[in-house]
This record gives sequence, structure tokens and C-alpha cells, in this order.
Amino acid sequence: MVADLSMTLARWLAAAAMLLLAAPATAQGGGGEIVPTCRIATAADTGVAEMLRRPAGPCAPLARATRGTVWLDFGAPPQLRDDHDLHRLLIDNHRVHQIDLYLARGDGSVTHERYDPDTALRGWRTGGYLSMIVPPSAPVTRMLVRLGDVELITFSRPTRLMPLYVDFRSERRDAALYGLALGVLALTILVHLALFPAIRQRFQLFYVAHATVLFAYAAAYSGLLLLVAPGLSADGVSRLISAMLSAATATGLLFSTDFIEQRYVPRGLRFYAIVSAAASVVCALLLLLGPDALTAPVYGAANLVGMNGLALVVLVLAVGAARGSRTARVLALGWAVPIAIGVTYPLRILGVVPDGLVDDGAMVAAVTVECLILSLPVVARIKAMRLDHERVRERQLVLERQAATDALTGLANRRGFVAAIERALQIGGPSSPVALLMIDIDHFKAVNDRYGHVRADTVLADLGMLVARAAGPGAIVARYGGEEFVVVLMELDLKRAHTIAERIRAGVCAAGADLLDVTVSIGLACGRCDAIDRLMVDADLALYDAKRGGRNRVEMASAAKASIAA
Ligand code: GH3
Ligand code: MG
Ligand code: MG
Repeated sequence: MVADLSMTLARWLAAAAMLLLAAPATAQGGGGEIVPTCRIATAADTGVAEMLRRPAGPCAPLARATRGTVWLDFGAPPQLRDDHDLHRLLIDNHRVHQIDLYLARGDGSVTHERYDPDTALRGWRTGGYLSMIVPPSAPVTRMLVRLGDVELITFSRPTRLMPLYVDFRSERRDAALYGLALGVLALTILVHLALFPAIRQRFQLFYVAHATVLFAYAAAYSGLLLLVAPGLSADGVSRLISAMLSAATATGLLFSTDFIEQRYVPRGLRFYAIVSAAASVVCALLLLLGPDALTAPVYGAANLVGMNGLALVVLVLAVGAARGSRTARVLALGWAVPIAIGVTYPLRILGVVPDGLVDDGAMVAAVTVECLILSLPVVARIKAMRLDHERVRERQLVLERQAATDALTGLANRRGFVAAIERALQIGGPSSPVALLMIDIDHFKAVNDRYGHVRADTVLADLGMLVARAAGPGAIVARYGGEEFVVVLMELDLKRAHTIAERIRAGVCAAGADLLDVTVSIGLACGRCDAIDRLMVDADLALYDAKRGGRNRVEMASAAKASIAA
């Protein structure tokens, strides 16, 4: 039932996610994207004068994996030719180490502004962009942007140019969407942390770790991390983004492999998943803490290991689903969205997928939806395990109660009696006064011989009830042996205890034929609660006296007699 509900919810969420991701992609035209007429890779020391001498217009396409210095030639952007609005230029600052903006104007002047992403909090904008204001003055005849030390031009997001008021609108939208994503991720982390103590399972930790690295990824990618860590360099942010994606692959893989029921995933595959996750963690750590010289090769390795990890996730889910695991199917729904977007990265390097196809921030939205969908079966599992746990606990309590109860009379048995005395000791303390009655049916062997065991058993049961009733609610009453009962009366003086013993004896006598005319002999002792063993011996001796004295009577232990005489 719970699993069905989570499956249905997961399907709806996955469908809604696809729609949400498709919507911004189609609305992207309004985002003021501008495409350079030419992108040129040059030596690091190529100057702007040389670039301005180049005729404006299209040029040969840039190799897809270009690194180093890249100039973007935008010619004369129509927006800056005759519009007198303030404009905002947005340049992707992920994996770019320096940005120079050159504007040649109709009056022959060339202005230059340098943005160092590492220290440029002033140009910070939601979504991990650097933003610069282009003031209106003489119309711009040529706009050139120099990107210094680019790490991989393929993943540079489109440059955008738009009037300030338009940008305000899109910034608000971006901030709201990233804020929503971060909020949802933070909430799932908190909820699952709070749920951890309920069943304390390993998959819960993997899930929380996964959600946490996704949160860090979203915070770094959106640039919102700079609000709390303004000193973070653009390079640091880029490394963090890549490291968190590696870590997310590792935690996601571990979570999925651990969460699917053991019988559905072959051991070999499990082992391979752990090795692959470990490799992703190493890549993440090297990206975060390794020396600069290692960054480029580690990026490459992290991409390969990450792709291998995602392929493994697909394999684990496919094998699990094929073997009939419902969990695997729900997880597959969650993973479908980020994997679909993840595979576009290598495809973009290969040129199979065009750059603009996947919307900016789509991965953040995708992992948020993924996290939400994965949380559904986790919550369902926690609920189911909790119910199991409670059922086992209830069963255990029933068994414990049965083990302490005499089946024939429903009274406590010897074990139940000992436990009840221990409880009484805890409540009343060791020195609280108690009286103890040892009750034995007279000549019961003869009753058995005469009426048979079955009829004699009913006498035992009825007599047990009579004793319990006469002893009152605060007393501990147990069937101590075959036809022997023991009663412990708390906080009672000897006189009142004797009255109750007498009431029991007389009650049995008065029952007559109902109890097959049996009588009982009773031994009575009194003392401290922590000396029950001693009291039992005393009461037993008194009972022996009662038997010797002719049966059907109450006899007090000698210590009790002495105290009454005093
Ligand atoms: P007295 O105590 O008066 O000295 O005589 P008694 O015959 O009661 O004592 P004894 O100890 O010789 O025998 C106790 C008898 O109680 C033996 C057994 O037949 C009977 N008895 C013990 N447990 C049960 C039981 O669960 N059901 C039945 N029907 N009889 C039981
Ligand atoms: Mg006996
Ligand atoms: Mg007896």
C-alpha cells in the first residue's frame, strides 16, 4: 500500500519535473542570449589592437575542447547600437580565470574593464554569472570579450546581454528557482536526519550524504554560496561544483546499491559499485584538496569515473528491476532525470548535442527532483520497518506476559511472582513492610483421585480467583506450585493480614460443593520487602504447623506471633 503510493507519487513528480525542465528551455529566448560571430583561441599575450584589426564577422569554428585564452567577438550588438538604456552583460564565470570587456565606440574610443572572477563579488549574480553594466554613451561598434585561462570552452554557458530591467526579472526568476531547489534539498536533509533514529539503517546515511552533496553542488553552482563565503575564488567554486558532482555519483551509487533488497543485486555488481564509488570519492577529494597542477587531469578522470558510476547505477537498477524489485523501479524514475541531463555533457564535447539544448541550471533542478523522488521509497521503507519493529515488540510483550502467567488460573506463575516482587521493591523500597500468605489445598490428591484431574483443575482455577478477589487489588497473587498459592500484601499490619487470610480460608470453606468441599491451610509471615526468601521459609513453616494442627486453619510464623504478643 505504502509502496504503491510512493510509486504513484514518484511517477507524478518525474512527469512534473520533465515539464518544469522543458519550460525554461523553451522560454530561454527571452534571456537575451547573444552569440559571438567569432570565437578565436589566441596566445595569452595577444592584445586588443590586434583583435580590432581583424575584420568583424564569422570565422572558422573553435575546437570543442579548447583551453587557454579565448576571444569572443560580438561585432556590433544591435542592442548597443542605438539603444540608450543601461545594459547588463552576463558572462559565465565557471572555469574562467579572467574576463576583459572591450567596447569600441563610434567616437573612436575603446573602453576596457577587467573582471577578476576571483575577487569580483561586485559582479556577482544568481546563477554563477559575472555581470557588468554597459553604460549608454556613443553607440558600440565592436564588443570583444577576452576570457583568460579557460578550462573547457564547451561548457561555457551562453553570454547574455539585455536591458537592466529585463535582467532584474530574470534574476528574480533564477533566484526563486535556485532558492526553491536549495530549500527542498535542505528540507529533505533535515527530514531524513530526523528520521534516522527511528530505524538506524545504513541506507539512510547514504541518502542524507547524497542530499547533502547535492545541496553543496546547488549552492556552489547557483553562486549563492558566495553569499556566505564571499572570499571563495571562481576556481574554488568550479572545483567545488565538479567535486560535488563526483561525490553525488558516489553517494547516489552507494545509496541505490544498498537500498535495493540484497537478493536483487548480484554480489559482483555490489562490489564493483563500491569500488567505483570509492574512485569517485578520491576524484572529489583531489578536486577539492589536490594541487593546481593536477586539476586538469583530475577533471578528465572525474568525468570518466562519473560516467562509469552513472552507467553502474543504470545497470544496478536495470538488473534489480528485471529481477522484480519494485524499489529499483521507483529509484529508476528518480535517476532518469539527472542521468538524461548527465549524458548530454560528454555528448556536447563530442558535438552530438548542441550547446543550447539543456537549460542553464537544469542539472540543479534535475538533482532536486531526483532527491525528492528517492526520498519517497526511503520514507515508505522507514515506515514499513518501523511497523515491523512494533509488531515484533508487541509479540515479544505477549510472549513475556505468557511466560510470567499460569495458564490454568491466569495468576502469576513463579517467574511472574519474582518479577512482581522486584517491581514492588523498586516502587516501595527495600524496607517497606509486607505480609506473606502461603496457601495450600488440603488433601488435594484425594480430590484428584475421586473426581479426576479435569474436574480438580476447575477447582484450582476457581479457588485462584477467590484468593485474588479476597486479597484485594494491591496484592501480588501467584500460583506457586501444584495446589499452592502465595499472596504478598503490601504495607499491611499483621492483624489486617490475618483478617484477609481468615477471609480466604472461610471463603473457600463457604464455597462448599462449588469447590468440591475442599479446605485450605494458610501459613502467615511478615517482615521487610527485601527479605521475601526468609518470609517464604517462615510462612512455609507456619503452613506446616497449620497442617499438623488439623488443616483448614491459618497459622502465624513464630516471629509474627512474637510481634503480636509484644
Ligand atoms: P496436603 O497438602 O493436605 O498434605 O495433601 P495433598 O494431597 O494436597 O498434598 P500432596 O502434596 O501429597 O499432593 C498434592 C496433589 O495436588 C498432588 C497432585 O495430584 C495435585 N496436583 C498438583 N498440581 C495439580 C494440577 O495442576 N491439577 C490437578 N488436578 N491436581 C494437581
Ligand atoms: Mg502441596
Ligand atoms: Mg495440599
